[in-house]
Amino acid sequence: MAILKVALLGDPVLRRKAAPVSRAMLRSTAFRRLVADMTATMKEYDGAGLAGPQVREGLRVVVVGSEGNPRYPDTPGFPLRVMVNPVVRALTGRRVGFWEGCLSVPGLRGLVRRPGRVRVAYTDMQGRRHSFVADRFCAVAVQHEVDHLDGKLYVDRLVGTRHLSYEREYARHFAPAEKDKAG
Ligand code: ZN
Repeated sequence: MAILKVALLGDPVLRRKAAPVSRAMLRSTAFRRLVADMTATMKEYDGAGLAGPQVREGLRVVVVGSEGNPRYPDTPGFPLRVMVNPVVRALTGRRVGFWEGCLSVPGLRGLVRRPGRVRVAYTDMQGRRHSFVADRFCAVAVQHEVDHLDGKLYVDRLVGTRHLSYEREYARHFAPAEKDKAG
């Protein structure tokens, strides 16, 4: 396994729409290696998700998962999933605010509001189709990653530029208020 280089904000690769993964590709050694490397890369940098375009692969594949993640200490985690050709559908009109981070936008957090409950359909590495309901942090993470597949970044969806912050300032000035709300 290798730790891959993550494309950063400003790199045009992050703005391209990714292509669906074919059945043949799914079975290939190269694709399996890519997914293993993406998983290792996400864990190495304490990400909660990573999408193909972030590692310069224009393919509709994402890895999500966050358990005991030091970058999101106050948020309940969710298990690791590799999702090929994922599709997200909102199950509620109610949007929840979450201070998102992104390995392609290092050091920053920004407040984004998204549907807090979504249905996610995807293909697994064995080619089986799955569907599940995601809530809260998991719902946010999946939507954030699927956005990457369409060339979108969370900074495109900010509530406003006043809600963009360096991580340190976020921890100092915004996170305590978030904790109060949650409690
Ligand atoms: Zn991201």
